[in-house]
Amino acid sequence: MKAHVKNFDVVVIGAGFAGLYALQRLRSQGLSVIVFEAGSDVGGTWFFNRYPGARCDVESIDYSYSFSDELQQDWDWTEKYATQEEILRYINHVADRFDLRRDIRCSTRVTSAVLDEEQMLWTVRTDRDDEVTGRFCVMATGALSTANMPHIPGRDAFSGELYHTGHWPAAGVDFTGKRVGIIGTGSSGIQLVPVAAQTARELFVFQRTANYSVPAGNTVITPERRAEVKATYTERRRQSRNSGGGSPHQAHPKNTLEISAAERRAAFEKRWDLGGVLFGKTFPDQTTDMRANDEARAFFEEKVRGVIEDPAVADVLIPTDHPIGTKRICTDTNYFQTYNRGNVHAVDLRSAPIESIDERGITTTAQHYDLDMIVFATGFDAMTGALNRIDIRGRAGRPLKDAWQAGPRTYLGLGVDGYPNLFIVTGPGSPSVLANMVLGAEQHVDWIGDLLNHMAEHGFSTVEAEPQAVADWVAECNERAAATMFPQANSWYLGANIPGKPRVFMPFIGGFGVYGAICADVAASGYKGFTLVGSTA
Ligand code: FAD
Ligand code: NAP
Repeated sequence: MKAHVKNFDVVVIGAGFAGLYALQRLRSQGLSVIVFEAGSDVGGTWFFNRYPGARCDVESIDYSYSFSDELQQDWDWTEKYATQEEILRYINHVADRFDLRRDIRCSTRVTSAVLDEEQMLWTVRTDRDDEVTGRFCVMATGALSTANMPHIPGRDAFSGELYHTGHWPAAGVDFTGKRVGIIGTGSSGIQLVPVAAQTARELFVFQRTANYSVPAGNTVITPERRAEVKATYTERRRQSRNSGGGSPHQAHPKNTLEISAAERRAAFEKRWDLGGVLFGKTFPDQTTDMRANDEARAFFEEKVRGVIEDPAVADVLIPTDHPIGTKRICTDTNYFQTYNRGNVHAVDLRSAPIESIDERGITTTAQHYDLDMIVFATGFDAMTGALNRIDIRGRAGRPLKDAWQAGPRTYLGLGVDGYPNLFIVTGPGSPSVLANMVLGAEQHVDWIGDLLNHMAEHGFSTVEAEPQAVADWVAECNERAAATMFPQANSWYLGANIPGKPRVFMPFIGGFGVYGAICADVAASGYKGFTLVGSTA
């Protein structure tokens, strides 16, 4: 260890929504905290994903911090689904308002976190040669922060412009008059396509798997609506915390086939108008009963066929290989209509896969496409990607990567046996990406903050998930996932998008409210499933 290594109570890694709140909350309870952030500024997802069209798909009024009523009363969201630019402005406002920047080291990537078992300290090292120790480590490294760049042969030979949506240049990109290829039709690609189509000369959308996407129905938030939301925020947040997905919307009280066809249609119409991802939860049984799913899917197909002029193009764009809602439903603005433009072409990679990239463009098994620009909208090494890129060593120097070789194993998503005093925020084993992630981060950080208070009050210095608790939680997460149709889709929830990644359904699918109640119960019981030890306990 270097001389004069600085010691902190808590080392936080990441300065997105989660890391910023971890700093705010833990500092406010008297702990010394340092945050390391690889990006050159705060914001995480919203700092990096600056592609045109990027917006949240949970309403802005819900996809925002709830910890400070003054903050939520003062901040005025302008649109139902805020743009990336507005969300980043909000995050920067929060960083300034709570004086967070003085404890954040930006442009600094953590390379390792190693446990000293005797002193029960974590030594954290960075790519700028920093070395600090912390009694606790909080991994706020993001579930969708490690971009996936597929290794397509010849990729580096391309002589035109090449981008990934998850690392979009801050200076912006000009599509005007260019032949643009976008690879990927997940949420990112589906948001980008309609915007790029407006100025590109030709736009080729390389689609491997068709995706379900529902119009956002984005609107400006009127002063009346804003006042109404602000007057009822407390209740809105309470409902969100008790809900399945972290927003105040509830599924229909009955199952899909328990009501008449007319009632069912009215319920689907209502959800369609509400917009976006919530369509996946119109009825409570939509992702557990295939007959229910077929009803939702048929409604979706009718809507989409209604806006695509060429039925052959509709055939390519409408998914047939997975039940609706078993991958995150995308939230779009004029996505399917964009294919009615003469300059936009859907390239079906199922019938002719990409073979290679060369200096002039992309070659599929059917033909070559000459391009000036290629955009990879190919997603992320989700949930474990950022953690596995840090050399995390717990008891006996065991790398976390090895412990997770067959897939991530946590207790409540928060703790791992063999890695005492290390916490993960919205990681595998928590609702994470299946719920509003801002409220998810707050729930985790508050739970961790309460635990650290409990430890201080009772003289505990070490907390560690018990192996049996981890095994039971992993089994519970698997059972809950198996009771749904989610494992039928080749989604990033399962790691299916990354070659060689273990196929394990990573998030807890039991619902945000249910999960919160389990965490509260664990805390109320004196943290059952965790071993607490300490010098003065
Ligand atoms: P992030 O914002 O990903 O921040 C993690 C930070 O950790 C990053 O800044 C990263 O640089 C840093 N980091 C990682 N590893 C290291 C390291 N080794 N050293 C130093 N720093 C490191 N969720 C929703 O609920 N609703 C939405 O509408 C929504 N929209 C999204 C749109 C896009 C385009 C994407 C990609 C994701 C979206 N998500 C959405 C998910 C989104 O990731 C979360 O909502 C949220 O922003 C995550 O915050 P976070 O702080 O946990 O992680
Ligand atoms: P994604 O959902 O993983 O989509 C990636 C796309 O790239 C898929 O269509 C995938 O095809 C394709 N792809 C990957 N590798 C490929 C290859 N080698 N060749 C051809 N195609 C390839 O990633 P994302 O769109 O970035 O979204 C990730 C998540 O981030 C979302 O699910 C959502 O949670 C969040 N997000 C939210 C919003 C929002 O609306 N607020 C916007 C963006 C992102 P396959 O399906 O065949 O693998």
